[in-house]
Amino acid sequence: MIIIMNNDVTDEQIARVVDRLKGMGAGVNVSRGVERTVIGALGDESKIDKEALDALPGVEDVIRVMKPYKIVARSYHSADTVIDIKGVKLGGKQIQVISGPCSVETQAQMDQSAAAVAAAGCRLMRGGAFKPRTSPYAFQGAGVEGLEMFRKAADRHNLPIVTELMDVRQVEAFQEYDVDVIQIGTRNMQNFDLLKEVGRMRKPVILKRGMSATISEWLMAAEYIAAGGNHNIIFCERGIRTFETAYRNVLDVTAIPVLKKETHLPVIVDPSHAGGKAWMVPALSRAAIAAGADGLLVEAHPLPCEAWCDADQALSPEELAELMGSLRAVAQAIGRDL
Ligand code: PEP
Ligand code: MN
Repeated sequence: MIIIMNNDVTDEQIARVVDRLKGMGAGVNVSRGVERTVIGALGDESKIDKEALDALPGVEDVIRVMKPYKIVARSYHSADTVIDIKGVKLGGKQIQVISGPCSVETQAQMDQSAAAVAAAGCRLMRGGAFKPRTSPYAFQGAGVEGLEMFRKAADRHNLPIVTELMDVRQVEAFQEYDVDVIQIGTRNMQNFDLLKEVGRMRKPVILKRGMSATISEWLMAAEYIAAGGNHNIIFCERGIRTFETAYRNVLDVTAIPVLKKETHLPVIVDPSHAGGKAWMVPALSRAAIAAGADGLLVEAHPLPCEAWCDADQALSPEELAELMGSLRAVAQAIGRDL
C-alpha cells in the first residue's frame, strides 16, 4: 500500500502514520521527496485498514497495490476454470446457451419450453420460480410448485436447471428439487448474507452483475461466495443502467475481456435483460460471443406474447433455433464450438 502525504505535512503527522502502520503489522518505508513524502507499507495488505489511514491528519491518498480479491483472481489460478454441470462443461472451448422462460408459469408451458430448448440444441435450461419483481402487485413466481414443474419438464430432456435464489429461506426447496445451478439476480449481487449462504453450498452459482455495480464490486461479491468454499462461480453480465431510454439496459461488452483478464472463472452474457427486446437478442448474442463470453442466458417462451413476465424480450422456439444456428458460425470464427 502507498500512502501519499499532503505537501504541508508535519513530522508529527508522518510519525503517527508510521506508528499506525507498525501497529497493523506492516513494514514501513518513508520516502521524503522535494515536494511530497510518500510512505510505503510492506506486507500483507489485507491486514492493513485503508480507511483508518485515510482518516489520519496529513494523509492525502492511500493507494492499494494488491487486488482486494484473491480466490477469484486470475493471479490465484492462471488457467480458465471449467465448471461441470452434470457433464455439461461451462468455461471450456464449448459455448453453452442456457435458455428458457423468464418465469415458470404452468406445467404445459414448462413442457413446451423444455422441448424447444432441447430441440434448439441448448444443454441447460433456465426459468424463475421466485421472481424479483419491481411491483409487489406483479406475478411473484410460482414458488416451490414452480420448482417442481421445472424439474419435471427439464428431466424429460436431461436438461440441468438454472433458477434464481432470492432468500436463504428458499434453500431447503432448492435442495429438495436438486437445483443444478443457483442464480443470484442483479438485485441481490450485494446481498452478503445470501452470498455467504451459497458459499456454503456446493452447486454452481451464476452471479449476475448488479445493475450499477462496478467490476471491482462484482469481483468482491464473487469473493464472498468463494471465501465460503464454493469456487464454482459463473459471472453473468446482464446490462447496466444507462441514461439511454431506447433499450432496457446497456450491454457492457467491455466487461467481458476485462473479467476474462481479472478472473479465471467463466463469464456469460444475458442479452435478454440487456436489450429488453427480442429483436435485439441475436445482435447482442453475437457481440458477446465474439468478445469472448463462455455462454449466454437467453429468455425464450413457447408463446412470447402470452408470457407472464418479460414478454417483450422472449424469443419464440423458432427464433431460438435460428439464433443457435447463427451463433455457431461466430463461435467457429473464433475457434470455439457451440
Ligand atoms: C432473470 O434472469 O429473470 C432476472 C430477473 O434477471 P436480472 O436479475 O438480471 O434482472
Ligand atoms: Mn426476465
